Amino acid sequence: MEFCPECGCRLEPKKSDGAIVLACTKCNYVKKAENNRAQAKVVRVIQPKSQPFMTIISEEDQKVKTLPTIHMKCEKCDNTTVFVWQVQTRGGDEASTQFMRCTKCGHTFREYS
Ligand SMILES: [Zn+2]
Ligand SMILES: [Zn+2]
Repeated sequence: MEFCPECGCRLEPKKSDGAIVLACTKCNYVKKAENNRAQAKVVRVIQPKSQPFMTIISEEDQKVKTLPTIHMKCEKCDNTTVFVWQVQTRGGDEASTQFMRCTKCGHTFREYS
């Protein structure tokens, strides 16, 4: 607690021009609070939450590893199991095209609807 050097009365915190000053309760003495600026500089540092590591699977990996297979006869060989996947054409509003790839000879063909 601080006291007015002019009259000895108690100094109370008072807002003046947006800053907190110590003002005498009796006379007009005003003392600027010296630690105001230091307090304003305290910035809380918030550590960003660590992002979960995202596994990025390339388009090619998706085709090779996660493709379902359907029972369909290959055009090139006698194999009857083909991988199947769908590709969305660039327009976005167009229907996706279904592609098939023979699990045996690798022959790739698309389904014509
Ligand atoms: Zn005073
Ligand atoms: Zn084939």
